[in-house]
Amino acid sequence: MSSPLAEKFEYPATLPPESMSSEEKESLRESIKAMLIREDAALVAHYYTDPDIQSLAEETGGCVADSLEMARFGNQHNGSSLIVAGVKFMGETSKILSPEKRILMPTLDATCSLDLSCPIDEFSTFCDQYSDRTVVVYANTSAAVKARADWVVTSGIALDVIDHLEAEGKKVIWAPDRHLGNYIQKQTGADMLLWQGECIVHDEFKSKALAELIIQNPDAAVLVHPESPASVIELADVVGSTTQLITASRELANQQFIVATDMGIVYKMQQYSPDKIFIAAPTGGTGATCRSCAHCPWMRMNSLSLLANAFENTDNEIFIDPVLAERAMIPLQRMLDFSAEQKR
Ligand code: SF4
Repeated sequence: MSSPLAEKFEYPATLPPESMSSEEKESLRESIKAMLIREDAALVAHYYTDPDIQSLAEETGGCVADSLEMARFGNQHNGSSLIVAGVKFMGETSKILSPEKRILMPTLDATCSLDLSCPIDEFSTFCDQYSDRTVVVYANTSAAVKARADWVVTSGIALDVIDHLEAEGKKVIWAPDRHLGNYIQKQTGADMLLWQGECIVHDEFKSKALAELIIQNPDAAVLVHPESPASVIELADVVGSTTQLITASRELANQQFIVATDMGIVYKMQQYSPDKIFIAAPTGGTGATCRSCAHCPWMRMNSLSLLANAFENTDNEIFIDPVLAERAMIPLQRMLDFSAEQKR
C-alpha cells in the first residue's frame, strides 16, 4: 500500500556513478584532499554516500557516521569549515550545533522524502490541534520543524525517548516517518499520533520477496532499518539504526546478511567484515520496478566533482536564521543531554 503522501513529490532519478577513469578519479581525490587542508575543513559523510566519498572522509581525518554523530563530530572538530556529504537536514543540524563554522554541502538539492513530507506550515497547524501532546520529531526534518518540536530524536535513541515520555504519562505527536512511528508505538505501547511521512528507500522493501530470499539463504541474518514497513520488520533478526545494523553485522557470527536499508551501508559493513556476504533485500518484487532500488537518489547526488568544487560553488552553503537555530537547538540539546545521561 502506498502512503497518502507517496505521490506528492517528484523524486529525482537515481544518478549512475560518475563516469571517469581511475586516473581521473585519483587526481580528483588528491585535489579534494589538498582543498580540505587549504581551507581548514573537515569532510563528514553519511553511511549512505558513495564509497569514494566515505573513504575520502576517513583518509582525511573526517568521519563517516549517522546524522547525529556527523553533527557531533563536526562540532568537536577544530577546523573552521565542514563539508557535509549527505542530505540537507544533515547540513542544517551541523549548522545548528556549530553556528560559528562555515557549513558547505556538495549540493543543497540533496534533500530527503521525510523532510519534504513534513512542511512546517502544515505540521505546525497539526501540532496546534493537539496542543496537549509532546511533539517528537525525527532528525530527518527541516530546522523549522525541529524548532517547532519538544524533542528531536534519531532512530538510535527514539525507543528510549518515547519509553521515557510514556513513563511520564505523556501523549506524543510523532513525525514524520509513519513506519518508524508505528514500530515504536508497538514496542512501547505509547499513545502516539503519527504524521504520515515515509522514506522512499525503506518504504520500498517488499516482505513477500524478502520471505522468499530468506528461504533461499537460510543461514543469513536479516538486518532491517525501522523506517521499513511493518511486514518487513516482522521478518528481521535485528531491527536498528544504521549504526546498530553495522554493529550487528560485525558481532553476529553469521557469514551472510540480508540488508534492508540503503546499500551504501555495505561499504562500512564490508570494511569491518571483509569475508562476510551482504545481500540487498528486495525492493520491487518479481517483475516490478522500484524508485530507489535501495539507493537514496538524494544521497547519490553527492558526487566527487561537486565535492571538489565545494568552495568554488556559490549556492551550497547552509544558512539558518540565528533565532530559528537557537529554537531548534533546544529539542536537539534535550536529546543530547538524554543520551549523555544514559551513558553514565
Ligand atoms: S535514505 Fe530515506 S531517510 Fe535517508 S535521506 Fe534518503 S529519503 Fe531520507
